[in-house]
Amino acid sequence: MAEVSKVPSIFACPHCMQAFTPTAHGVVCPNGHTFDRAREGYLNLLIGGRLTSDAVPGDTPDSLAARRRFLSTGAYTPIANALAKVIEEIDGPVLDVGCGEGYYLSQIHSPHKYGIDIAKQGIRMASKGFPEAHFAVGNAYRLPILDASCDAVFSVFAPHSHVEFQRVLSTCGQWVTVTPGAHHLQQMRPKRDSSIVERELRRDEPPEHAIHAQRIQFDLELSDASAHDLFSMTPLIWQTAADAAPVTQVSVDVWVASGFKS
Ligand SMILES: [Zn+2]
Repeated sequence: MAEVSKVPSIFACPHCMQAFTPTAHGVVCPNGHTFDRAREGYLNLLIGGRLTSDAVPGDTPDSLAARRRFLSTGAYTPIANALAKVIEEIDGPVLDVGCGEGYYLSQIHSPHKYGIDIAKQGIRMASKGFPEAHFAVGNAYRLPILDASCDAVFSVFAPHSHVEFQRVLSTCGQWVTVTPGAHHLQQMRPKRDSSIVERELRRDEPPEHAIHAQRIQFDLELSDASAHDLFSMTPLIWQTAADAAPVTQVSVDVWVASGFKS
């Protein structure tokens, strides 16, 4: 029994990418594909096979709880503020790709907020915590989002596709990414990074595709509990390395990059 105000307008059928019509229990596309709405209000739009274990690193219930505790301390407020400032003038739909438990989406000012994540537990927490936004479980590399439906799309420390960003953005729409800089959390990191992907994600240069890029760097002095929570949010490859550890003094170093529909 979805209220009219909760009807998702940018979500698309993951089978055929058509728009949905609301039903008593969820939504249906013109080709008859139906999806039930969860008790918490979100849609599960994930299809096509199971996920490999490395597709959802760090997104266990424990790490999501750690993420919520850590972010609620306000330690990453400068990052959330920088993101909110980039998209503050946008009135149309704003989509967070890889929204997790919803923190960054909750910190931006927009009347039409949408979040997608591949981890159902994260989407469940986000739906409970932020009922003013619309959430769906979905794939970042094949977003269940209508073409040209978003005035802004962003992703914070999460896998994303610039091809998909371009597809879902409306004319003059804007994308924003937050990605790690070269020194991000260097005190917690394994001395010898075993993952080439991890190494390439951290950069001294602005991310490619960016029209504007701002580097944000600051130091944190954390309690033992917060240090442990932050460590639990970091990629699994760090957590399993023998010489990686939660420490209380860490450097934050991120790029806030943005560009437009091209
Ligand atoms: Zn369909």
